[in-house]
Amino acid sequence: RDPLTSATDVAGRLAAIRARIAAAAREVGRDPAAVELIAVSKTFDADAIRPAIAAGQRHFGENRVQEAKGKWPVLKAETPSIVLHLIGPLQSNKAREAVELFDAIHTINREKIARAVAEEIARQGRKPQLFVQVNTGEEPQKAGVSPREAAAFVSLAVDEEAAVHFAFLAKLAREAGVSGLSMGMSDDFETAVELGATHVRVGSAIFGSR
Ligand SMILES: *Cc1c(COP(=O)(O)O)cnc(C)c1O
Repeated sequence: RDPLTSATDVAGRLAAIRARIAAAAREVGRDPAAVELIAVSKTFDADAIRPAIAAGQRHFGENRVQEAKGKWPVLKAETPSIVLHLIGPLQSNKAREAVELFDAIHTINREKIARAVAEEIARQGRKPQLFVQVNTGEEPQKAGVSPREAAAFVSLAVDEEAAVHFAFLAKLAREAGVSGLSMGMSDDFETAVELGATHVRVGSAIFGSR
């Protein structure tokens, strides 16, 4: 496609999605500013992402550490205010790179991952925002702790010495609730906003089909 046309498209789609998020939030009496739009840029290269940055988008999501390492260091250097979210599965041997590059990790779903990430946070002094991934439907093909295990998982992580760095989990424990809720994609983000999402992850509705 003509790069100029697609740049205009991306800016237009972003504006349209922001308007829909705001409308869905107001519908249920929520402040639209309490919902963060994460533009999911997986499979799109730096040149396809720059128009979104130029249009003012700052939160982006990637689902692979390796792929993100190939494009985001340069983009982050160009625009330091970018906030990069890891929304895909994390292996413990990638914890170091993930904590180096990402500002938020949405897929803390096993004790081993929680420990590996906590260790890196302590070592690097970088503190990405952390989300516990919950498999609400307990579907075998999906990752995440089961809803029954979620509370125990959080308190276990908070009891860990390194977990002092789990700012999000600590907050969760204090409030006995969830303060950040990452849910909703291109097809269902308005519903997610109406149900309390603080972060929606929208890919194809911004960048086009993959
Ligand atoms: C790809 C992806 C999205 C975005 O999906 P779209 O349907 O393109 O909006 C959201 N969350 C996760 C975890 C993803 O991998």
